[in-house]
Amino acid sequence: MIDHNFKKKFGQNFLQDNNIIRKIVETANIEKDSLIIEIGPGRGALTKYLVEKAQVLAYEIDIELKDYLEKEFENNTVDFIFEDFLQRNIKDDIKKYKYNKLYVVANLPYYITTPIITKLIEEKIDLEKMVIMVQKEVGERFSATKGTKDYSSITVFLNYFFKIKKEFIVSKNAFIPKPNVDSIIISLNKKENKPNVIDENHFFKLVRDSFKQKRKTLKNNLKDYDFEKVYEILKRNNLSESVRAEELPLEIFVEISNNFKL
Ligand code: SAH
Repeated sequence: MIDHNFKKKFGQNFLQDNNIIRKIVETANIEKDSLIIEIGPGRGALTKYLVEKAQVLAYEIDIELKDYLEKEFENNTVDFIFEDFLQRNIKDDIKKYKYNKLYVVANLPYYITTPIITKLIEEKIDLEKMVIMVQKEVGERFSATKGTKDYSSITVFLNYFFKIKKEFIVSKNAFIPKPNVDSIIISLNKKENKPNVIDENHFFKLVRDSFKQKRKTLKNNLKDYDFEKVYEILKRNNLSESVRAEELPLEIFVEISNNFKL
């Protein structure tokens, strides 16, 4: 038994349906000699299946779970770091492991989904694949197509690095305690042919600025840029001056950023 109180502030909704957990692990299709990063193992419901596939490195902020997890997994190839994932230097943490491919498999704490994903991207750790559980609406945003209201800067960033796929919906009833929202499993596979971006930081800034105020036109959001040059690129692509960021495909952001210095 485990003596532990659920903590809402840490987004603790623990999976209790082993069929769903197995399906998540199957979706990840982890090759041997891999390293798997898990964020928020909780009571180890998913960890239990991950350790069967490869070495696991798990980050858990709730120190009350420490004794339980360390005892439960003492004979497994898993290391736990009991700290806030967002405060860690992941690149440093994974240095000591020898592995071929790097995966992230996690039932994420929903209150920090975007910061976690952003961090994983910005750490530049060459992720092979992520299979993550997120709030259903957030999953829609990540996999949105251009021209829809869900299409946002994070959609563009994720599309730059990954092929994104909605895998399956998970009902609230699969968790204890039961959350207010449904969930979705999405997978993100590393793109072998990433678009050629000359300066990634510049590209990230441009995309972020373009979506600054979603209802405004690109021109309005890029007030500090020399819009004439941006407009030339839009014209070349048969797009109007009054276009909004949510109508632009990844390739146009890439083209603008590559042809345009701040
Ligand atoms: N994977 C488990 C638990 C998911 S709930 C399961 O499916 O059953 C989300 C987990 O993330 C909780 O255990 C919570 O304590 C942990 N967590 C929340 N914020 C975190 C952070 N900043 N860093 C690491 N873990 C965090």
